[in-house]
Amino acid sequence: MIRRYVGRFAPSPTGPLHAGSLVAAVASWLDARAHGGRWLVRIEDVDFTRNASGADARILQQLAGCGMPPDEPPTWQSQRAVAYRAALDDLIGRGLAYPCGCSRADIVAALTAQGRPPQRGQEPVYPGTCREGLRGRAPRSWRLRLPDDGGRPLRWTDRRLGEQSQVLSREVGDFVLARADGVWAYQLAVVVDDAGQGITDVVRGEDLAGSTARQILLQRLLARPTPRYLHTPLVRDANGEKLSKHLGAGAFEPGAGSLAAALRVLDMPASAPSVPALLAAAVTAWRARWAIPGL
Ligand code: GLU
Repeated sequence: MIRRYVGRFAPSPTGPLHAGSLVAAVASWLDARAHGGRWLVRIEDVDFTRNASGADARILQQLAGCGMPPDEPPTWQSQRAVAYRAALDDLIGRGLAYPCGCSRADIVAALTAQGRPPQRGQEPVYPGTCREGLRGRAPRSWRLRLPDDGGRPLRWTDRRLGEQSQVLSREVGDFVLARADGVWAYQLAVVVDDAGQGITDVVRGEDLAGSTARQILLQRLLARPTPRYLHTPLVRDANGEKLSKHLGAGAFEPGAGSLAAALRVLDMPASAPSVPALLAAAVTAWRARWAIPGL
């Protein structure tokens, strides 16, 4: 059965959108339009310690100013705790999730003691310390108990990047599903919501390609369908760093100028004089380049 295309843009409201996040938004919008699909916006505000007040409204305003209002009222992950809880309970009930008492420092210390200290700038691979029990420590998080992959990679295909693979046991380890302070992990929330909203196509920045294998594994364990994936090029600053709010990238001004800059990153035509004309030309070009066969 061919499911009708449903795409989404899922910003974290840690601040207004910058030029890099606009690229992901435009690409997901174009892909939905090029396939006659619907385009949803989901505000990923699960990590309430990082939300900036008013950023969600500002993001929606920026999108509307670039001619991309969502096709349905936006949703907020902060209102979805019941669904995340049900998914976590399901995993716990099947022995696929366990409580963990390790802090980041504990994890680094354990890895260092094993002679494999984490590389700078890389997420440490969880060494499995609490797999067999908390040994009297207080729980800090729930982790997924990775099924034994025997060192075999989980493979998936990205529409732009091609064949991808990751050995989760070696490269990631048992990952966090929820924090004890009540914050749901991105990996769990995104899987529950993509399925809950019937998302057929995820189009997002390339910085998230490395999360995709984790999400596909969770989809399989939770019996949710796997969408198609397309990861878009990142925008880099003059030093070659990925633009990020963390590094101080500023909000873009909605309008034809910012939209044209995002289209250029995507290698789309960007010379039309207005927002509607830019979008119309880009939909045609996107369809020519990225049409999904048979859709
Ligand atoms: N909320 C994530 C972010 O802003 C994106 C999640 C996704 O598109 O899967 O980085």
